[in-house]
Amino acid sequence: NTDYIYEALLNTAIDVDSLEADSRLDEVWIKEVLKKAGRKLKWSKLKQDKVRENKDAVRRPQADPALLAPRSPVVTIMGHVDHGKTTLLDKLRKTQVAAMEAGGITQHIGAFLVSLPSGEKITFLDTPGHAAFSAMRARGAQVTDIVILVVAADDGVMKQTVESIQHAKDAQVPIVLAINKCDKAEADPEKVKKELLAHDVVCEDYGGDVQAVPISALTGENLMALAEATIALAEILELKADPTGPVEGTVIESFTDKGKGPVTTAIIQRGTLRKGSVLVAGKCWAKVRLIFDENGKIINEAYPSMPVGIIGWRDLPSAGDEILEVESEARAREVIDWRIYEQEQEKNKEDLKTIEEKRKEHQEAHRKAREKYGTLHWKERSFIKYLERKEQKLLKPKEKLERDSNILPVIIKGDVDGSVEAILDIMDTYDASHECELDLVHFGVGDVSENDVNLAETFDGVIYGFNVNAGNVIQKSAAKKGVKIKLHKIIYHLIEDLQEELGSRLPCI
Ligand code: GDP
Repeated sequence: NTDYIYEALLNTAIDVDSLEADSRLDEVWIKEVLKKAGRKLKWSKLKQDKVRENKDAVRRPQADPALLAPRSPVVTIMGHVDHGKTTLLDKLRKTQVAAMEAGGITQHIGAFLVSLPSGEKITFLDTPGHAAFSAMRARGAQVTDIVILVVAADDGVMKQTVESIQHAKDAQVPIVLAINKCDKAEADPEKVKKELLAHDVVCEDYGGDVQAVPISALTGENLMALAEATIALAEILELKADPTGPVEGTVIESFTDKGKGPVTTAIIQRGTLRKGSVLVAGKCWAKVRLIFDENGKIINEAYPSMPVGIIGWRDLPSAGDEILEVESEARAREVIDWRIYEQEQEKNKEDLKTIEEKRKEHQEAHRKAREKYGTLHWKERSFIKYLERKEQKLLKPKEKLERDSNILPVIIKGDVDGSVEAILDIMDTYDASHECELDLVHFGVGDVSENDVNLAETFDGVIYGFNVNAGNVIQKSAAKKGVKIKLHKIIYHLIEDLQEELGSRLPCI
């Protein structure tokens, strides 16, 4: 009974996490139902209590305050297009490269460190713009401590300036204002500050706490002041992390390098990363073979806030994925198994939703058919006829009861209303006088569609078409789903076929 299956499926949706505990539903039977619904459930996985235990077991609790050590700020540069974000990043990076000894080859690792003469360091994420920032945030990653908001002094507050402010506010990340292009004659820094008031960005001059630094990214003017303002804000924020114990971090980018294979760039957020560490990120894992910095220099250890390139990944994780260190490769595989299993569970739940939608569609189709074909639906007409026959004592009540267990779900498609109606009328007479009942799942005018096939699959029914076609794609899809499509050009043949099919569904006596 299809209703029963539906109900069971919906129950499974609710109980999907406690299937094992709640064995109300027989395992073999559930598998059968799931198969019918086209769902793949790795039952063996469900059975693995070991895997189940792994849920979240890798994440460490909050660090003991005694273990916390100061760390440098991680900064994202945001602002309107053409206001100078890329120029600023380039200038900051060049300052850094120039300050280094010769020989460094700049590597793109999605972020870089700038060291101030005071010894302080700042990590800049070098994918400017809020697209990267919000993509990371959407994945739940919070890497940025401070946003440097770049506003061109000759242009003022623009659309993406406002969006950047909103992003920073949503993420509760404080802002340092960089008023750029101050080398230009038409630059008006004061106008920028005033305009920002309307967006709740209140600079120090106006009694707020946002530091504003007039700069020129082009000439490099005042960049040191900008860096110092950033460090000053970082000190207020008291940024700290626990540099001991297993590593935690976030993937900034991942790509395949021709020579090195899968490379992930990351910001370390907790612990100390070393060669040989085993990491998991998303559904990937790594045994760290090599760690390098933005200058391509191989390093032995990476601490919180450091941007690094990591080699040793078996696959490519995604930007924003959380990196966690585990104690062994076996453990890494266990954790990934669990994550894959969890994802499948999520997908199964979605599939169930689709089935419920199908059911609604089906009901809706019936309702529409009722409107279209008059006040009485085929089944209602059939029932009335059945009552009439009963009255005429042509049918003993017992016979009706017996028929309930033998049902053939059918879908009828015809070329015009008239032909569909004709087939339904013949079916009426047929239905009331045989031992196997026809269950009209759906009927309509037009070629056999994917929707018909899906319905037939759900109800384990047969599709009958009169003077209609079923395209190649539909035929293939039906074959794959084990759905029979029977096409006829003569109504009499169609009915004969239907009778045969009914006969084949009768239990052997
Ligand atoms: P982005 O879209 O925010 O990354 O902006 P770009 O860094 O690409 O800069 C856009 C244009 O503004 C480029 O032609 C830059 O050379 C120019 N520009 C950037 N910063 C300055 C500056 O401080 N002064 C002047 N005069 N031009 C600048």
